Amino acid sequence: MEFETRAIHVGQDPDPATGAITTPIYQTSTFVQEAVGVHKGYDYARVANPTRTALEECIASLEGAAHGHAFSSGLGAATTLMHLVSPGERVVSVNDVYGGIYRLFSQVYEPKGYRFTYLSAEEISEGLAEHVDETTRLVWLETPTNPLLNVVDIRAAADAAHAVGALVVVDNTFASPYLQRPLELGADLVLHSTTKYLGGHSDVVGGFVATNDDELSERLAFLQKSLGAVPGPFDAWLVLRGVKTLAVRMERHCANAAAVAAFLEGHERVERVVYPGLPSHPGHAIAAAQMRDFGGMVSFQVGSEEEAVALVGRTRVWKLAESLGGVESLIEHPRRMTHASTADAPFAVPGTLVRLSVGLEAASDLIDDLDAALRA
Ligand SMILES: *Cc1c(COP(=O)(O)O)cnc(C)c1O
Repeated sequence: MEFETRAIHVGQDPDPATGAITTPIYQTSTFVQEAVGVHKGYDYARVANPTRTALEECIASLEGAAHGHAFSSGLGAATTLMHLVSPGERVVSVNDVYGGIYRLFSQVYEPKGYRFTYLSAEEISEGLAEHVDETTRLVWLETPTNPLLNVVDIRAAADAAHAVGALVVVDNTFASPYLQRPLELGADLVLHSTTKYLGGHSDVVGGFVATNDDELSERLAFLQKSLGAVPGPFDAWLVLRGVKTLAVRMERHCANAAAVAAFLEGHERVERVVYPGLPSHPGHAIAAAQMRDFGGMVSFQVGSEEEAVALVGRTRVWKLAESLGGVESLIEHPRRMTHASTADAPFAVPGTLVRLSVGLEAASDLIDDLDAALRA
């Protein structure tokens, strides 16, 4: 079956008891057993819940994965993945990793003796082999990155990582499985903040990990129940509902983002536009090869940090907020908002940068609003 069909049906057969076409929200913590150990596959809702199972089967299918595990947030998923690493082992990460992941690495795990190496997207794409050895447990990729939209060659990174026995994690939050499927490009694990495009409606916080490796999946299921960062049934249901429209939403996100990027590139008040779909973007060729389209995120630079901060407060249709991937268009100033935790990092984002999460409104309204804000 095609992606669009799987998004609507996998894991979501009509309810056998009632015929309900929509997967019920199984708002229960426990399940009655007929005799000791005799039950219908569910005993306690931290371990498994039928609404969560539906979500896990559906998103796993969209990533082309045999297994999926849902978490309470993207960072809950990341924390669980970090339990595959032991103190003393190394994580090699793309350097402009999501700010919350950088905070987790640098302020939670580094003080405990975990080791980190940060490399640029270009260094990872072109020469990762020089920076990994047998102590490297994980190679942590994000592509396109947040908020600079750098692109990493997943296949090249996976080849270099596997040569030393390291696992490759790809944070696929920005692309979503509709635009990019890292497991098909050699990654071992795919991570999502389902808060973003998978949920798609700015109404839920969630995380996800998918893999084709049976042993890794077994370990993740163990960690999921042992660490306990699980989503509740209603949160699982909201993401499941969002995923049904992922394909059509991503198509419009991409079309609107391309229109906004083209508009900004010709604007006199804009110094530089960062969008992987523009031929001027350094990662354009890799993105074109490993993604179906270029996504809904656009960043751009203006003349000064003061101008960037003022601009994000002047739009009317674009709402000033953190997060991304919802139907509403959002604008923000990464340096002072989403990426404040990277302010002291060597790869801190420039203060002149503005990030856009291009939503599903009419492109003409989005462009008119930006134009008015830029000219004010
Ligand atoms: C938001 C985000 C996360 C963290 O996810 P939460 O659901 O907020 O915990 C991780 N990676 C990327 C790329 C994100 O955008």
